[in-house]
Amino acid sequence: MMMCKDIQSLTSPRVVKELMARHGVSFKKGLGQNFLIDRNILMKIMDAAAIDKEDFVLEIGAGIGTLTKELAGAAKQVLAIEIDSRLFPILDETLAGCYNVKLVQGDVLKLDIKQLLEQHFGEQPFKVVGNLPYYITTPVLMMFLESDLPYESMVVMVQKEVAQRMTAVAGTKDYGMLSIAVQFYTCPEIVAVVSANVFFPPPKVDSAIVLLKRRQSPPVDVQDHRLFFKVVRAAFNQRRKTIINALTALELKGISKEKLYDVLDRCSIDPRRRGEDLTIQQYADIANVLYLEGQRIDE
Ligand code: SAM
Repeated sequence: MMMCKDIQSLTSPRVVKELMARHGVSFKKGLGQNFLIDRNILMKIMDAAAIDKEDFVLEIGAGIGTLTKELAGAAKQVLAIEIDSRLFPILDETLAGCYNVKLVQGDVLKLDIKQLLEQHFGEQPFKVVGNLPYYITTPVLMMFLESDLPYESMVVMVQKEVAQRMTAVAGTKDYGMLSIAVQFYTCPEIVAVVSANVFFPPPKVDSAIVLLKRRQSPPVDVQDHRLFFKVVRAAFNQRRKTIINALTALELKGISKEKLYDVLDRCSIDPRRRGEDLTIQQYADIANVLYLEGQRIDE
């Protein structure tokens, strides 16, 4: 049974400063060490994550344990990853008695997450929660989206502009590779936009809490996922390129430029359109016609 020691609220800037000072730890800006100091926002993250006593939770970036402690109180088990070993003596103190928390020191992008999850959660589905270090938001999200790990949902605090990119639709300036990847695998929702003042020290940008609910199946039928993403990536690599030029640059084996004009014609897509104007369905159409033309990556 979880019995977290009830220390004074970790969302108080005074407590954060005192803990860091007493342990002789300075904030590392380069690691995105902006700790949450607003209880309302903490509760918004918890509400969006909808954790219950049956849940296994993976937290990314434990910091001084503010969110970890809350998660421990709600979940069955929490696996929390933190890169900065200097914070572990603080975490030992703030998470004393949280017997359902396992802390792992390391870089979330370098650790063998699959093996860690298997070791701690077995084959169980899990939820990802994190007030993410902003310098690695996209690679962390892509790592989960493109994996076969059994995550059910992700609730992440990200830079506001990144949240807007995740939820952007075709034809808008924020629409890109991240929008398509996120929307292909999940249903994204911006839960709240959050001011920089809810962190200590405050970052230079505003943030947003995003809930990503995993889809049971993608919103469009795609024969070959990797071929689909290869097409999408090509289209956004150089945003100003027309779709015909982006596809030509791929140099697909056995597909001439004339053939590509024919592929786009069969999808009823004007070859002069740009990647940022095409919907996920139109990308799926292009990839599926290329598949019919013998292009394969998945197998
Ligand atoms: N969860 C805490 C909170 O809400 O106050 C801390 C959030 S802080 C924005 C991000 C945390 O992620 C920092 O503690 C930082 O040291 C940690 N971090 C940075 N890069 C990391 C990485 N590559 N892998 C794991 N943790 C990382």
